[in-house]
Amino acid sequence: MNNDLIFQKIIKKEIASNILYQDNIVTAFDDIHPKAPIHILIVPNYLIKTANDINKKNKNIIAHMFYIAVKIAKQKNISEDGYKIVINCNKNGGQEINYFHMHLLGGTKLKTLY
Ligand code: AMP
Repeated sequence: MNNDLIFQKIIKKEIASNILYQDNIVTAFDDIHPKAPIHILIVPNYLIKTANDINKKNKNIIAHMFYIAVKIAKQKNISEDGYKIVINCNKNGGQEINYFHMHLLGGTKLKTLY
């Protein structure tokens, strides 16, 4: 299976996952291999493969993804202590699933890369 299909199937509820939020633009669900006590993925409902595919037409979706990530962070009570929003792009960025997504990580002190 093409690995971008995994997220497409989660969005359509064809494979099991813990969906925390869904509207007509984005879906948010728990990461299956959490790297922190809170590790949630926020994805657009239609396929954008990588950050390189953000363009004039779809850029509003990215703003909505941020808005929902922050909303979930507040709901999960991690906004005051803080969190990370991570986007990996392609091989050097460590992107494993070829479907654009944001990682919302929190609930502990997270390591920084720099
Ligand atoms: P990335 O390395 O940025 O492409 O991240 C892909 C993320 O997707 C990883 O953190 C995986 O643990 C997560 N992942 C892979 N398959 C699933 C799944 N079926 N349900 C939830 N998260 C998944």
